[in-house]
Amino acid sequence: MYRERIISLDEGKQKEISLIHWDDGTRCLRRKDLIDILYAAFPPGTVKFGYQLESIKLDPPSTKPVLRFIDGSSIVAKVVIGCEGGKSIIANFLNLKPTKTFPLCSIRGLTNYPNGHSYGHEVTRFKKDDIVVGRVPINDNLVYWFCSPPGIPKDEKVWKDNEVLRQSTLELIRDYPQEIYEMIKNTDIQSLSLTHLRYRAPWDLLTGTFRKGTVTVAGDAMHVMGPFLGQGGSAGLEDAVVLARIMAISGLNNAVEEAFDLFIKQRRMRVVRLSLQTYLTGMLLSTSSRLKKIIYIMLLILLFHNRNSHLDYDCGDL
Ligand SMILES: Cc1cc2nc3c(=O)[nH]c(=O)nc-3n(C[C@H](O)[C@H](O)[C@H](O)COP(=O)(O)OP(=O)(O)OC[C@H]3O[C@@H](n4cnc5c(N)ncnc54)[C@H](O)[C@@H]3O)c2cc1C
Repeated sequence: MYRERIISLDEGKQKEISLIHWDDGTRCLRRKDLIDILYAAFPPGTVKFGYQLESIKLDPPSTKPVLRFIDGSSIVAKVVIGCEGGKSIIANFLNLKPTKTFPLCSIRGLTNYPNGHSYGHEVTRFKKDDIVVGRVPINDNLVYWFCSPPGIPKDEKVWKDNEVLRQSTLELIRDYPQEIYEMIKNTDIQSLSLTHLRYRAPWDLLTGTFRKGTVTVAGDAMHVMGPFLGQGGSAGLEDAVVLARIMAISGLNNAVEEAFDLFIKQRRMRVVRLSLQTYLTGMLLSTSSRLKKIIYIMLLILLFHNRNSHLDYDCGDL
């Protein structure tokens, strides 16, 4: 069981403002572990790494998709499922509307504690002024953390140099408890990242055409959303389960287009709802207008009065 604690550090005092117990809902895992497990399930040679897609077009006589990579190589594909994240080239090919950005970003990192940490299974958020630092243990030795700075850093170096990013993050949280300062100071520099938060508008998800011939998208390429509910990656995994199940029934050679249409039909309203709740939460966090805040809160209460209802969802078995 996980529990979440929210601690306010404003006015120099440490005050617990919320404590939630979860029987399920939160699982923290390292992305590399997930990729390694998925990779190991394929026969050797099936997966190729290091090919960066440059463009996709349909071959005029056969109408098969042709993928061109930046090293100059190309593939004529039977089927393409674009899972290349929020800046997807495949999504552009499907004529989806461009993704948008929140005026917010997030700094993330992993910190190793060789002798173990003492944070148990507790997700802790520390709030001070407009800055939130979250701490999520992955196992007894590894901790994932995030920090949401106010606004978007203008200094180019912060985006390009992880050491500069670390120093500027330490500067932001210099008044935080020593354990938080040490966590960020000792973070694995390779794991450090700064991300400008991006989303596909919920109304574009409602109306978007997610298939052209035998080409579709899944994961963030389809429905990139802010991290405010922590559901983007989970929704991508749900996509994978639903798509695999449908493809297994339809078969790769027959009825691919119908299979993709069924996948899109089964996923659309789930990702519209998740994205809408995320969008309203993100807008609430990023506006300074009191009136807008009230409107976003009203909409959230009206549409998502149980704010954890998104966890009560089963995409079915593989
Ligand atoms: C700050 C932050 C916190 C988050 N927290 C959570 C959370 O708590 N829980 C949760 O479920 N989700 C969370 N998410 C969302 C989650 O990270 C994403 O939804 C998830 O990573 C999407 O997976 P994906 O495989 O679809 O895309 P990505 O993870 O973006 O992977 C895309 C892959 O495609 C590759 N690629 C990109 N372009 C090309 C190209 N042209 N050619 C070839 N390959 C390419 C990339 O290198 C990458 O390997 C968070 C996101 C952010 C930004």
